[in-house]
This record gives sequence, C-alpha cells and structure tokens, in this order.
Amino acid sequence: MSREAKVLMLYTGGTIGMILQENGSYHPFSLENLMRQIPEISQFDCSIDTDSFDDPIDSSNMLPEHWQRIALRIKEDYGLYDAFLILHGSDTMAYTSSALSFMLGNLSKPVILTGSQLPIGIPRSDARENILSSLEIALARNDEGGPLVPEVAVYFEYDLYRGNRVQKVSAEDFEAFQSPNYPKLAEAGVSIKYNRNYIARAKAGALQVKLDLDPRVGIIHCFPGMTAELVLPQILNPQVQALIIRSFGAGNAPSQNWLIEALAQVCLSGTPVINVSQCSAGTVEMTKYEAGRKYHEIGLIGAADMTFEAALCKTMFLLGQNLKGEEFKLAFCENLKGEVSI
Ligand code: ASP
Repeated sequence: MSREAKVLMLYTGGTIGMILQENGSYHPFSLENLMRQIPEISQFDCSIDTDSFDDPIDSSNMLPEHWQRIALRIKEDYGLYDAFLILHGSDTMAYTSSALSFMLGNLSKPVILTGSQLPIGIPRSDARENILSSLEIALARNDEGGPLVPEVAVYFEYDLYRGNRVQKVSAEDFEAFQSPNYPKLAEAGVSIKYNRNYIARAKAGALQVKLDLDPRVGIIHCFPGMTAELVLPQILNPQVQALIIRSFGAGNAPSQNWLIEALAQVCLSGTPVINVSQCSAGTVEMTKYEAGRKYHEIGLIGAADMTFEAALCKTMFLLGQNLKGEEFKLAFCENLKGEVSI
C-alpha cells in the first residue's frame, strides 16, 4: 500500500478503559483517558481515527442493538479505513465477535476486537500490549499487499483467534480466551507468527452487511435432576422462535419421556431446536449414544463443534433472515464464516 494506512478504533467500553470508583467497583470511562495512556501508538506508520460509544458500557450490558451499531459503523466507514479495531469488554467479547462475523458479509478488511483484564491506568495492565499488537495485526499485509487478517478476530494476551471460535474461559488469568476447536490465527512473541493456512481469504465484491437479528432464543441447560415443572414452560413458550439445548458430552440428554415428547412437539411445529454440548472441545454426534440418538430422531439440529456463542449468534442471525424449518436447518448446518469444521 503506497498511501498511509487508516485505522478506525472504536471504544465500546470494558475494563480496558475503566477507572476505579469510590465504592471499589470498576466503571467504564472515556476514550481520551485511554488514549493518553498509550503515547507509543503515535509510532505506528498509520493514521488512527478514534471514536467511542456515547456512553461506554461494561460488556455485560451488550445487546444486539450494540452489535448492529458496530456493524453499521463499519458499513458506513468501510471505504474510509483499511482496518477496524474494536475495544470491548472481555466478558461478552466472544458473542460480539461471533455476531459480527455473521453480520459482515464479503469482508476483505481486518476487524480486530481486543480488551484487557486490568484497566490501562494500572501498572501491570495487559491493555497496552493488547492494543499495540492488535494494531500491528490490523496493519499487517500479505505478499500481495492485501490485509493479512481480513476477518473478524479477537486478540488477547499474545494470541489471535478467529472471532466465532473463541470463548472467555478465565476471569483471573491474563490468558482469558481459548479457541477449543480451531487453531490460533497468530501468536505474538518477539515477532508475530501468523498461522496463514487457517486465516480466511479476503472476499471479493462489496461488503454486505445484514443487520437483522432475532434474539427470541430459548436456552435449556441440561442437568441431572431437571424437572418437567420448571423446564416445560420454557420449552413450550410460544414466544420462543428457536431453542438451544445445552446437552452433555457428544450431544446426549436425559432420556425422560416428558423431555423427548416436548422437544418432539417443538420440532414438529417447525421451531428449530439446536443441540450444543456443554463441553467446549469436541463435536456433537447425536448418534454416538442411545441417549443422543433419540434426540437426533425427533429432529434436533446438531451444532457440531461450534462454540455456544457462535451457535447462539448464528441462530439469531438466521432467524433475523426469516429462515424457518428446513431452510433454517440447511443454513445452520452450513459453514457460513468458518465457525464450524465440516
Ligand atoms: N466486565 C468487563 C466487561 O466485560 C470485563 C472486562 O472487560 O474484562 O466489560
């Protein structure tokens, strides 16, 4: 690239820019404060525009409306920038990165999310390294001069992950994220080593942003001792447009008749019922055990090795496209954005 690269850095909130209040809790603070703490950023050979949510939030308060706001901003400014850096709370970062991966079609520029476990103003904070390395990755070019990471990715504690493959696994360690079923896209040591075979290729054609999401998804978390009285009202709730069953192991669930019959009724009505394992690593294979086979037979859709976050956001996205019944199932089982190994 002959001209100077341009990056948009969007601060949504999260620990990275928080300050400690008198009551001892962290509260999201301003972008100005954040930028003051990293003067090294001016050493990058690029121009960086910054912007912030009007009211930066703890990511526990993220909503599909916020994902839409981020996607819309990328859409509006896509021609102006070479890369987008999203500063975000780590708690729900995996949901936002999953949702954005589905909403941003034909992506050919990096969209890198990062955050930190400690606010940037604290001496031992991980924020500075996370921001500076994310920026370096956002600016990295391949041999043809195109962006090296033209996909939605999460950078945290020396590792870059595919955005729809990552999960937050620790509230304590700086290494807060893992990608249980897909290799890291890059590792930052003295130099940043890219795992090029696993990074998505830039898509040709114009960016296609789909903003519609339907969050009316019911979640049933299986556990030993779950009772019909408590669980059936949610399974049979007419508001629910899709159900996700958080099963055991390879996609198994209790073989009680009330559960099988209720889920069979929901499947028959055309409402998608998706089977996502409580295990992060591995894949849903409902026919492996008798305790899973029954659910396969009544029509549950296996999420294979998708993370829960990716399966949930994909469900909201496909419902948002008004897909139902067999159409939903076909699209859900397809590998849309590298979120599933098939
Ligand atoms: N509660 C914070 C958030 O997700 C945690 C963090 O940023 O690490 O906004």
